[in-house]
Amino acid sequence: MFDRAVRLVNLEPGLADQIRACDVVLHFQFPIRTNGTYRVIDAYRAQHSHHKVPTKGGIRFSPDVDRDEVVALATLMTLKCAIVDVPFGGAKGGIRIDPQTETPEVMERVTRRYANELVWKHCIGPESDVPAPDMGTGEREMAWIADTYSVLTGGQLDSLACVTGKPIGEGGIQGRTEATGRGVQYGIREFFRDKEAVSAAGLKGTLEEKRVIVQGFGNVGYHAAKFLEEEDGCRIVGVIERDGAVWNENGIVTGFLKEHMVSSGGVRGFGPAEYVENGNELLTGACDILIPAAMQCQITTENADRIQARLIAEAANGPTTSAAADRLVERGIAVLPDLYLNAGGVTVSYFEWTKNLAHIRHSRLQKRIEEDKARRLMEAIEKMTGERFEAGEWDHIARGSSEIDHVRAGLDDTFRKAFAEIREARSRHGLRDYRIPALIVAIEKIAASYRTLGLFP
Ligand code: NAD
Repeated sequence: MFDRAVRLVNLEPGLADQIRACDVVLHFQFPIRTNGTYRVIDAYRAQHSHHKVPTKGGIRFSPDVDRDEVVALATLMTLKCAIVDVPFGGAKGGIRIDPQTETPEVMERVTRRYANELVWKHCIGPESDVPAPDMGTGEREMAWIADTYSVLTGGQLDSLACVTGKPIGEGGIQGRTEATGRGVQYGIREFFRDKEAVSAAGLKGTLEEKRVIVQGFGNVGYHAAKFLEEEDGCRIVGVIERDGAVWNENGIVTGFLKEHMVSSGGVRGFGPAEYVENGNELLTGACDILIPAAMQCQITTENADRIQARLIAEAANGPTTSAAADRLVERGIAVLPDLYLNAGGVTVSYFEWTKNLAHIRHSRLQKRIEEDKARRLMEAIEKMTGERFEAGEWDHIARGSSEIDHVRAGLDDTFRKAFAEIREARSRHGLRDYRIPALIVAIEKIAASYRTLGLFP
């Protein structure tokens, strides 16, 4: 896909090779001891591109992590940051471990040791490389990393900006946990604002009552499904998880399913829905929108021809193989590609990083000014018209913006602008899909950056 996009961009000889190359890959191993047994832990950090620094990308804890996966995901981060105009190069980290089977104590030791290794190797810091959560990690791990970094570097002023996705009390930002799912919602909304795109995909109308199947009900999948259900009126008809899938034509209440998963560890036994043992069968179930939000390589040539969804919203990284993507384009199915659709996390991570560096919450300086201005304006209107605003109206209009308002507005604006750029590249090159245009947008921006920078001798 990258090569196809490169052929459509006018690049100087060798520049495509540099954009493709992964600048740094670290593979390190360290021991842990549990119950008198020694185990060797495999860990990675790849910094794909230094055309902008710091580099940025999540840390994945999974038994499948390997060098190729981390490099591919770091590359995707570079492209993603370029598309949403986040001034970072791409990176990704990973530890080959199964968080589902480890105790919190083991997780803490492994995470802190990993952070140690990154500090010793100068691969973490507000100015060099800033990790974030990914599959299998969350706020808890980010707090351990921030703490370890700050202890080892002697309490630097900006140390909290060494990692994003932290808990609010430890320098995090409102809306970061939900950010990737929120971005998935904003990206899908943007697609539905484009009437031509909607009808080309064989869909009609608005998001209201659209049937959605989600694979992976973790951070990204759950939030995307919840927002689409609660705010856009979608019907979540199917949810696929590790232990099977659940299906209800009338819609699954996402909050209830989440509660069930937290208490039972899976989707099996969820009363208000039919249970399907072989969960992945539902990837080809009847729906309008399919949201793969778990793993890579889930939509392949094996199932692409049977997919019934007319829009595939790639919340996960790399869920569609390139051969399957071609089949979907031939069938007129629209695919909103990962490098655009799941960039909400890194966008809000960028807001968190700037908040940490500024040492002040976004909105703190202007909230009261906005409220005072709105109040004066409303008083003037009341005086001119001789009528009074209702109390609810008054509160709504005269409310100054809070941090979460800034985060959502910034994210929404980012997704609208990025989609407009992808659409422009799509029509400029007469393309039918969205992935190649998205890659073109990213590659053009990265190339422009290399041209402006020049290179070190
Ligand atoms: P998570 O660990 O919170 O959730 C993943 C969910 O998928 C879990 O509920 C897990 O049980 C389920 N799952 C795992 N394997 C599965 C399988 N084979 N079939 C069905 N379900 C399966 O992870 P997440 O943060 O939600 O990440 C999900 C995807 O989104 C990953 O591809 C990740 O790289 C991508 N992503 C995450 C973020 C982020 O901010 N967290 C940002 C960008 C992209």
